Amino acid sequence: MANLIRGNSGDWEIVIGLEVHAQVTAQSKLFSGASTQFGNEPNTNVSFIDAGMPGMLPVINEMAIEQAVRTGLAIGAKINRKSVFDRKNYFYPDLPQGYQISQFLDPIVGKGEVLLDMPDGSIKKVGVTRIHLEQDAGKSLHEYNPKHTYIDLNRAGVTLMEIVSEPEMSSADEAAAYLKKLRAIVRYIGSCDGDMEKGNMRCDANVSVRKPGGALGTRCEIKNVNSVRFLHKAIEFEAMRQVEILESGGKIDQETRLFDSSKGETRTMRSKEDAMDYRYFPDPDLLPLELTQDFIDAIKKTLPELPDQKKQRYMETFGLSAYDAGVIVAEQENAAYYEKLAAKHDAKLAANWMTGELFGRLNKLGVDIENSPISAEKFGGLLALIEDNTVSGKIAKDVLDFMIESGKDAAAIVEEKGLRQVTDSGAIEKVITEVMAANADKVAEYRSGKDKLFGFFVGQVMKMSGGKANPAAVNELLKKKLAG
Ligand code: ADP
Ligand code: MG
Repeated sequence: MANLIRGNSGDWEIVIGLEVHAQVTAQSKLFSGASTQFGNEPNTNVSFIDAGMPGMLPVINEMAIEQAVRTGLAIGAKINRKSVFDRKNYFYPDLPQGYQISQFLDPIVGKGEVLLDMPDGSIKKVGVTRIHLEQDAGKSLHEYNPKHTYIDLNRAGVTLMEIVSEPEMSSADEAAAYLKKLRAIVRYIGSCDGDMEKGNMRCDANVSVRKPGGALGTRCEIKNVNSVRFLHKAIEFEAMRQVEILESGGKIDQETRLFDSSKGETRTMRSKEDAMDYRYFPDPDLLPLELTQDFIDAIKKTLPELPDQKKQRYMETFGLSAYDAGVIVAEQENAAYYEKLAAKHDAKLAANWMTGELFGRLNKLGVDIENSPISAEKFGGLLALIEDNTVSGKIAKDVLDFMIESGKDAAAIVEEKGLRQVTDSGAIEKVITEVMAANADKVAEYRSGKDKLFGFFVGQVMKMSGGKANPAAVNELLKKKLAG
């Protein structure tokens, strides 16, 4: 699904590689026992290690390692039995150590892959180069005082996984699908909560353009994109910007850029040419990390059914399309809700009504399925009425709205409002006779060959029955009656 950009000199292909920073779910930080709880008072989750006090020794958090290994296993990656922690040296006020502990040459996780579920149902494989563990930095706070900057070290030393992809995505849609899939995977396995609004998952997008099939172009890196929507916009803007420069005879400077979401554009942050040399070297306070195969195998046993496996199962056992299955498994909670429905009702009907009608309404309410005003049991009640023809699909949509408004069961609403579908042919025939009598001229036209009028009669009969007549029965009976 490469989407090419058409330029004066011919087509251009977009090339994207993503570096995703995912905050690891763990009670304490990567090398200290300080809490990782979000939203605490500034500087209350800080140990001497996080504050960079001289002489403090880092102690590795086993949970953080487990989470990285679990993530690697979930993307089918090679787990490196031996990895090394390095110091990445730089000065910044929110980094009191004067270096970040990260992994450079020997990361904990090697090559893996992520499968993208594209909207047309196709699947695209994107390689993951590596996952390494590193410390997050603190935060500079500018909002408390116009003249001073304050530092909050609560985040300093929290564990991040940096998940680096190969430059194998070729459209903003693919990059968005990659980020969504990665988010689904880490949420399934519980290694990161994927809350992009809180900054628990953010990404740097590397973007370049080239002539189709040609050598890779010079890339720009857009830093700290914190939503799927912004990622999409930033890539589209950036690719166009590069094409315009190249088409007018310019060249791309390799640089770090920022996405300004209010303007929808990227702008220079710093040039990569004068990027600093971090003088990486193995942290002398930490031994290389060696994992036993037993440790890795034990983690493997804890993996749940993953999104791709669940999707496959839904396609095979429930007959869902790749797209519907992909949408439903994206969140574990949606999948659990769906399985409750599919256990008792027509599986395809359940998928259609859930993705087509329920999701739209929940979206409008701004709630996710866990906070849905309609439980799976209640929603199943509506499906049952559709299945046994008590209500038509059209009426069922209204019933669903009433259910959300009132919290009542579907069956109660149908009785109360008299929405039961009319399948009794005698009753329908009576309505048809009335409609034909009121439109004698049209009946004559129809009979003299104006077939198109059939839709008009269906509409009139449905209207007169308050939408309650069974559409299939109306069609059948109308044909008979109109034929004369
Ligand atoms: P750095 O550490 O300087 O950011 P890396 O070599 O680790 O550099 O690459 C970072 C990311 O950039 C990777 O996700 C990779 O896929 C991507 N990348 C590398 N070259 C290109 C390119 N020409 N166009 C787009 N993305 C690229
Ligand atoms: Mg980078």
